[in-house]
Amino acid sequence: MRVAVIGGGVVGVCTAYYLAEAGHEVAVIERYGNVAQEASFGNLDLMGPASPRPWAMPGTPSKILSMLFRPESPVAFSSRFEPAMWGWIRRWVGECKLPRLKLNQLRMRRLSNYSKELMEQLAHSHSLDFQQRSGVLMMFRTARELQLAQPSIELLGELGTRHELLDPEAARLMEPALSAQTSFHSALYVPDDEAGNCPLFVRQMKTLAQNLGVEFHFNNEVQAIRPEIGGVSFQVDGRSIDVDAVVVAAGSDSSRLLKPIGVNLPLYPVKVYSASTAIQEFELAPQLAVYDDTYRVALTRLGKRIRIAGCAELGSSSVDLHQKAINTLVKVGDDWFPNAANYRTASFWCGPTGMLPEGVPLLGATRYANVFVNAGHGSGAWAMAAGSGKLLADMISGRRTDIDTDGLTLARYGDRAR
Ligand SMILES: Cc1cc2nc3c(=O)[nH]c(=O)nc-3n(C[C@H](O)[C@H](O)[C@H](O)COP(=O)(O)OP(=O)(O)OC[C@H]3O[C@@H](n4cnc5c(N)ncnc54)[C@H](O)[C@@H]3O)c2cc1C
Repeated sequence: MRVAVIGGGVVGVCTAYYLAEAGHEVAVIERYGNVAQEASFGNLDLMGPASPRPWAMPGTPSKILSMLFRPESPVAFSSRFEPAMWGWIRRWVGECKLPRLKLNQLRMRRLSNYSKELMEQLAHSHSLDFQQRSGVLMMFRTARELQLAQPSIELLGELGTRHELLDPEAARLMEPALSAQTSFHSALYVPDDEAGNCPLFVRQMKTLAQNLGVEFHFNNEVQAIRPEIGGVSFQVDGRSIDVDAVVVAAGSDSSRLLKPIGVNLPLYPVKVYSASTAIQEFELAPQLAVYDDTYRVALTRLGKRIRIAGCAELGSSSVDLHQKAINTLVKVGDDWFPNAANYRTASFWCGPTGMLPEGVPLLGATRYANVFVNAGHGSGAWAMAAGSGKLLADMISGRRTDIDTDGLTLARYGDRAR
């Protein structure tokens, strides 16, 4: 089939690669001049089975409320009143219940485990080096933080993921550069989770996809999709192009493209922040990736730089930087590795990622047999992109999928999306 993939982020590029591998003629349509220019650019670089955790967890709404008026917080709100944002928040709060967390996390884990296997195969077969480092240390500043994370930790045990809960002394032995000035309650060490350079991975996948014949059309923005009998056409800068099938992997823009054809996804664009800065003192920089559970911010070492990312801003689509988000990233750097770099002079970036209230991505056919979606990966796409790309390619090719897709397709919304 001739398949057009809309979006050149990690999800679109992985999907294109696996579609071409299955023998299809594939083109990626991307509005910017290269791949990985939006959410996949600012990625906080964590991947692996334990990393993708839904934002919707018991205790998170009250935690966010209690931190709302502090200068640093895991979430910032723009002053704009947006009815769509409040509708999304209502659904998100509904997902913050324990049974929903377990269900959502199990679905994400099924996909991220599969993804990890595929990424290992890719890295091995093509000698990919995207600055991978193993080992993530999740910091709990208080006993309450640990208590809130307990359901996720139990799930790690149930699913056989290696992990170890450490007291501060043991955590400091594991990561000697951790600041002695910052007190904390405990840390969870997950040796098989990894960090790496997401944009670099996407660029390498682009080359592999091109070797399989995938064409990349940059600086082309898709305005509309029109399903037709036996095919689909889409509008790019005034031209109409006919293909056999289209995959919408347009990140936070996916719902805008799908809504006019009656496919309504509860996808909301959440702005996420990152900061990159040169390491000044290498012995004082982290060896492991560190995730601060209080602020939901991660800090990783990428070659000679440190990258800090996280902090979600709701209600703004501008590229303006929110001071609270910057404060939060700087605080996390200063608290854990104060002398490794000057975080105030980092280059700050923000961009939208498409979040579903439950955090579990959506892939598969829509109500139109030739219009497919692969979106809503929220804060965990890198960990799930290879898996969701391969699953979708198998679905489009009419092949049996390697893992069960229950709960990952649009069927979970019933008639609302179909
Ligand atoms: C700061 C930050 C930190 C993160 N940290 C992690 C992490 O540690 N681990 C993890 O797994 N995930 C993380 N994520 C989430 C992850 O990066 C995203 O979920 C993922 O990059 C989304 O990939 P995507 O391909 O769906 O979207 P994107 O990368 O946003 O790609 C979508 C692409 O579609 C293009 N597009 C949109 N509309 C159109 C159109 N109409 N026509 C043509 N092109 C179009 C856009 O230009 C864009 O390039 C993070 C995200 C951010 C922002």
